[in-house]
Parts: sequence; C-alpha cells; structure tokens
Amino acid sequence: MRGRFAPSPTGDLHLGNARTALLSWLQVRSAGGRFVMRVEDLDPGRVREEYLESQLLDLRWLGLDWDEGPDVGGDFGPYLQSARQANYEDALQQLSEQGLLYECYCTRKEIAEAANAPHADEEGPAYPGTCSGRPPTGSLGRPAALRFRVPAGEVLFDDALHGTTVSDPAMEVGDFVVRRKDGVAAYQLAVVVDDAAMRISDVLRGADLLSSTARQIPLYQALGLEPPRWTHVPLVLSADGERFSKRSGALSLRELRERRVAPQRVVGWLAATCGLAPRGAELPAAELIGRYDPARLPREDTRVDIPEWLRS
Ligand code: GLU
Repeated sequence: MRGRFAPSPTGDLHLGNARTALLSWLQVRSAGGRFVMRVEDLDPGRVREEYLESQLLDLRWLGLDWDEGPDVGGDFGPYLQSARQANYEDALQQLSEQGLLYECYCTRKEIAEAANAPHADEEGPAYPGTCSGRPPTGSLGRPAALRFRVPAGEVLFDDALHGTTVSDPAMEVGDFVVRRKDGVAAYQLAVVVDDAAMRISDVLRGADLLSSTARQIPLYQALGLEPPRWTHVPLVLSADGERFSKRSGALSLRELRERRVAPQRVVGWLAATCGLAPRGAELPAAELIGRYDPARLPREDTRVDIPEWLRS
C-alpha cells in the first residue's frame, strides 16, 4: 500500500488541508504502507518557493513524516512536479498517437477556468468543443492548449466513503485541457501520470476532487494505467459553510506553528472533527495510528465553530 499527500505551494496550508493530510497519513501508517509527499508546483504564476518550504515544515510540525519526497528522495522521484515535465510529454505523446488530443485556441479566461482549477466550484460550463475539429499540430501557428477528447458516457468508480459514484464528464465538463497554452501540464494529466509512476495504490483527498476523479479515469484508461483505490474525505468548513482559509478567520498552520501553539492540540482538534478522538483531546499524530477507520469518518462536509485559540 502506497499513499500520498500532494500539496500545491500556492499559499499557506489551512486546517482543512491539515485534516486531509492527517487522514491520508493515517490511512497509510495504519496499514504499514509507504507515504509519499509530492509537491504540485506546476503553476509558475502562483507557486512560491517560500510556501514549499513552509508547507513541509508545517506538516512535520503536525507530526507527519514521509518515506519519499522532495526533501528525502526516493525511488520514484523527482517529487516536485515542476521537474517531471518529460513524463507529462510522454503521456501527451501517447494520447496524441491515439488521436485523443486537439489544439484549442479559445480565450485565456476559458482555459484558466478549465485548466488551473481542480476544484469543481471554480469551474465554468462544459467546454462546447469549439476547436475539436482542428488538425493535431500547429494549425494556427501560435500557442495552443491541448484538450483531451473525453469519451461519451458515464464513468463509474468505487469510493471508500461514497460507494459507487457515477458521473458523466463528457456532459459535465466536456473535453478538458491537459496542457495549457504556456506548455505546462494541467493538474488532471499530471496527477494521473504521477500517481501511476509513483505506484500510488490509495489516493485519499478532499471530496471537492470527486468530479476530477471522473475525468482522471478516462485518462488512466487511455494511457493503459491502473487506477488507485479512492477515498474522498469530506471538507471541514466554518460554521457559515466557508472552507477554512484566511477569509474564514482561522489561523493557517504556519501561523499556529509560529505562535507556538502545541501541535498535539491541533491534532486533537482535527481528530475530534472527524470522529477519531473525543472533543478537547490533545495527542501526537502517531497516537492516532491504528484508530484510522473509514467507517468512522463523516460522509458529509463538517461544519465546525472555530474556537478562539484557532482564530486570527
Ligand atoms: N494539489 C491538489 C490540491 O492541492 C491535490 C490534488 C490531489 O490530491 O489529487 O488541491
């Protein structure tokens, strides 16, 4: 069993990210598997070096560790996506040979909506296929994005928390971008190529990515790769239904660390929000190993009051 956490160094980690990281670490550690840290630093406009360092410090401060990652090496590296462009180009080549890609010259705004954001609520309407009739290479002689021809029909997959999940990516998102106009591989492609290359057997991530999974499955199929087992865990939201972030008033992990809040208190609070520890518990992450049980996890996004000590 091999699992991973895949942070994007585009900001500080918040408590929602921390809960997902903790759960994926517990899933792996309680099964005696190997935990991989993969940094998803593909978006040159948003990624900042300082976040990369502080995110890894935050996760170690919480008590998590990893067997492979950018700072510890491993057999399936590099573990920074920015150093894996050749792997993405190989995959694109394979897709192109099957006639599954086409160039798209639609506006930047449309492309940004489809390519940058793995999160469903940030996405626009389904791509209508405007460029789908274009010949495969350089037809307009200026930079184009590459879109993947999504096969028509429903995609079914099994999720450890949600059971059988059905969706229709061809209807819901249409042909999606796998390489942006600036040549950078899009999240959907990079995540599939890397999870397969890093032999990830179990992907545990936020439920906001459920709709992305339905897009990734046809990519696995087209590339002849074996998909992992999926666990999409609910998000933790503030009482008014916002994701934890600066806006919700909650401190980031970096701020908590810098204020010298005890990490055991943060771990205890996170564990209590998902039924793995009683309210008010304070304990090191390692004490939760063995308590991980998908049957005890909430199925729905969890709204919580942000206690005073977690507020900015
Ligand atoms: N880098 C993605 C994010 O931060 C995670 C994607 C994944 O776990 O598949 O949302």
